[in-house]
Amino acid sequence: MRILIVEDDAVLADGLTRTLRQSGYAADCANNGEQADSALSNENYDVVILDLGLPGMDGLEVLRRLRTRKSTVPVLILTARDALDDRVRGLDLGADDYMVKPFDPPELEARLRALLRRGQASGGGELRIGELSFDAATRCARIGKQIIELSPRELSLLEVLMRRAGKVVGKEQLLEHLYTWDEEATSNAIEVLMHRLRRKLDQHGVIIRTVRGLGYMLDSPEV
Ligand code: CA
Repeated sequence: MRILIVEDDAVLADGLTRTLRQSGYAADCANNGEQADSALSNENYDVVILDLGLPGMDGLEVLRRLRTRKSTVPVLILTARDALDDRVRGLDLGADDYMVKPFDPPELEARLRALLRRGQASGGGELRIGELSFDAATRCARIGKQIIELSPRELSLLEVLMRRAGKVVGKEQLLEHLYTWDEEATSNAIEVLMHRLRRKLDQHGVIIRTVRGLGYMLDSPEV
């Protein structure tokens, strides 16, 4: 899942970026409002963490512009304890959740998962297609009760395909969801990753189809 962290406090931003990457997110970080606004205009994120107190364009303005562009990406705002008015204005402007600093990283991650689930309207923290299941909280994929050993990136790829099961997912879309700005991702990288994931899933009867010229699609094991 691709996430944008907007935070001007370098220590907090680095810590968050590292934590979320370890949890399997493709995390980008913007440290001012202008950079965030431009990233949100040009890239597709699955969820955004937005600090409201930013130098230059503040977080509320970033949020206002985002919603003016009709983007529905879930936004979790971060506010200082003494800026509760901003929190209310943020929610009025279309933020989906908020946390007051300082916060507990595990709680932040739980809130992010809740926002991602709400976005999919599928309910539950577990994705399931036939015997294949993926637990977004523990980042564990299983066939029946058997765990499938996958790398963090393979798990992210599987997650994107499962969240869109039965629909074609283009390479561009996969690149956007799986790689950050700093990574030189090419469509070759997606093909290599797809090859490895398929090899691990094929033996369990899970088929990822190539829809020529369009992308990939995950079928259920029965098909
Ligand atoms: Ca700040």
